Parts: sequence; structure tokens; C-alpha cells
Amino acid sequence: MALVNEQFLKLPESYLFTEIARKVNAFKLVHPDARIIRLGIGDVTRPLPPTVIEALHKAVDEMAHVETFRGYGPEQGYRFLIDAIIKHDYEARGVRLSPSEVFISDGAKSDTGNIGDILSKDNRVAITDPVYPVYVDTNVMGCRAGDLMPDGRWSDIAYIPCCAENGFIPELPTEKPDIIYLCYPNNPTGTALTKSELKKWVDYALKNEVLILFDAAYEAFITEKDVPHSIYEIRGAKQVAIEFRSFSKTAGFTGLRCGYTVIPKELNAYRFNGERVDLNRLWNRRQSTKFNGTAYIVQRAAEAIYTPQGQKEIRENIAYYMDNARIIREGLSSLGLDVYGGVNAPYIWLKTPDGIDSWKFFDRLLFECHVVGTPGVGFGPGGEGYLRLTAFGDKEEVKEAVERIKKWKI
Ligand code: PLP
Repeated sequence: MALVNEQFLKLPESYLFTEIARKVNAFKLVHPDARIIRLGIGDVTRPLPPTVIEALHKAVDEMAHVETFRGYGPEQGYRFLIDAIIKHDYEARGVRLSPSEVFISDGAKSDTGNIGDILSKDNRVAITDPVYPVYVDTNVMGCRAGDLMPDGRWSDIAYIPCCAENGFIPELPTEKPDIIYLCYPNNPTGTALTKSELKKWVDYALKNEVLILFDAAYEAFITEKDVPHSIYEIRGAKQVAIEFRSFSKTAGFTGLRCGYTVIPKELNAYRFNGERVDLNRLWNRRQSTKFNGTAYIVQRAAEAIYTPQGQKEIRENIAYYMDNARIIREGLSSLGLDVYGGVNAPYIWLKTPDGIDSWKFFDRLLFECHVVGTPGVGFGPGGEGYLRLTAFGDKEEVKEAVERIKKWKI
């Protein structure tokens, strides 16, 4: 008789985007002619840049000839891509990495989810709240979360509140965890940490031997100078942090799938007996066993974004989205609403007026403006009373959504 992993049964249905789809479909039945503008799901809408398409075509053609055909590649990724990443994403910012410290993958969701494989279930995990739900759910699967409590929190997870009162800047925990997830620029709040704010976390981790799991999936959207793109820009961070990156939002790879994870050689965790263990070695072992590499053609496509033309093209798309973010931010602020984010990230985090709850505000926005957002509470209890709008839409639609909200009697 096969027994299931009971942890999976503890997880509530991941109903956020299904519930949104259900509500939108119900609305469409009653209002078939309404033109709905979707600023909910965080997926890109611009097509892949021409340089990426060209690299894909070229790589596909290579697969057609016996001399250039590629079968299994290195599980850790091809050197051509790893070298381009190190040169452009790190050396250009004063960070030195060796090729064996970079692991190419099919995206940051897999890596942020799978990293738990190499970490003990006995770790105490801290997360900021609200948060990208993958961190919490994968810790439930990995037996580190305890039980779901009536307030929507997990009994063994330490929640670090991010709210309007602290400007969405998390404060250092009073009780020491073993692992902390930080995602900056942040999904869902759209806020970022300055270098001095992030340094506090690195110093805390160094002093208390805490592992930081740093998700930098949105680093390409940073516009302000004092916001670091990589945690390794902070001295000492290589001893305490793993960094996750993604080509999804940076270059429109949400459908193509490519990302990478950096695990520095000097980063250690411990055995029960106090012996140090090199996490790079464990992750390499994990990946070589469970992962067979990202497609060659996809890695060639990712490499192409680092050419001068590739950089120009991805920058144009990012600027397009960030202009949408500005339109939403300025439009909603002009109504006197409390709006956060949208400066270093493609997300706008809106405090619902008059303390309306997230779902109620979502319903009103849908029924009265025909605009779809994401209820903040879907990102954790700390998101209650907020709504997330994304800047990944079409510009004309974004402008129209803002005009509709401006005419709305909230
Ligand atoms: N990390 C954060 C914070 C995200 O918001 C997302 C996607 O929305 C991901 C990771 C996943 O990225 P990928 O498409 O590379 O799996």
C-alpha cells in the first residue's frame, strides 16, 4: 500500500488565480459586452525581442545537422551562458564569481521551490508577509511549516510583516530564524530595499549564522541608483546568501523558461554535529540527480540578451512596462489613494480605501470598472486590505483602466 506525503494534504487549494478566473467568467456571463482590462496575473505581454528569436532560429538549425546537434548538456548549464551571466550581471557590478557557482535552470519558481531539498526540515524559516506564495507552500511540502492556523498563518513559520506602517521595509526578526526568504524588488508590494537596508540583513545573517534565500527575479526593473541589483554587492553576502534570478520578466521568457541560481563556494550550512557543509556541492549533487539541464536552444536565446542589441531590445520592453507602472502609480495617487511600488518593480500595491477587504475591492473594481487586479490577501494574511496591479499590460489598456478608475465613485 502506497502512502502519500501527508504534507500535501495540509495545503489549501491554490485557489487565487482560479477564483479570479471564476469571478471574471461569472461577470462575463452577465455582462457579455463589457471590455475587461486585465491587470491581474504577473505575466508579460510583449513578444520576445528579435535578437532572441534570431538566436532561437539559429540554435534550432544547429539541431538539424549531425556536426552541430546537441543532446544532453551539462546539468549546470552551458559555459557560454554562464560566462555571459558572470560578465554582465556580476562583474559589471563589481562582483566576482566562478563558473561553478552559477547553475542554469528552467526558472526561479523551480529553484526557489527545490532549494528546500538540500535543507533540513528542522530549520526555522522566516518569510516576509505578504509574499510570493511558492516560498510558503514548498516549506509546507518540506515539513518546515507546521499547521495552518485559523488566521491563515502556519504555526512554525516566522512572519515578518511588511505593511504601510513600516513602508514595506521588513524589520529584523526578534527571534532568530535559520533561513530567511527575501524578495527584492518585491512581488507583490513592488517595493525595493536600498543598499543600506539590505546591508542590515546581510550583517544580521553574518552575525547570527542565518541563510538568506534572495529572490532577485525583478532586478532588471530597478531604476534607483541606491538599490542593489544583487545581494552580493553587499560585503560578506557570499558567506550567507543564495541568489535566484530569472529571464522571465527581464526578457519575456515566461513561456520559454530560463533562470539561474548562484551558490557561492564560501556559503556553508551545518550538520547536527556542527560540521560545516558546502551548499554549492549539495546543490550540484541535487541538480545532477534530479535535473537534466535547460534546453540548448533556450540557453542560446538567453545568451543573446547579453549582446548590445539584445540589451537594447530588452531595455525597451522593460521601459515600456515601467512607463505603464508610472501611469498607474501617478493616476491612482492623484485620486488620493495610497499607492506603493511601481518605481523599481512592475507591480503597484494599492491600499484599499476605507478599509474594504481585498476580495470586496477586487469585486467592485471588476463590476464597476471592468478592471481585474489581484486581491492582496492572496499573497498571505499581511496582504489583506491591499490589491496588486501589474504593469505588464498593453499601454492603451493601462491608460484606459486608469481613466475608468478616475471616473469611478469609489
Ligand atoms: N520569483 C518571484 C518573486 C516571482 O514573482 C516569480 C514569477 O512570478 C518567480 C520567482 C518565478 O519566475 P520563473 O518564471 O523564472 O519561474
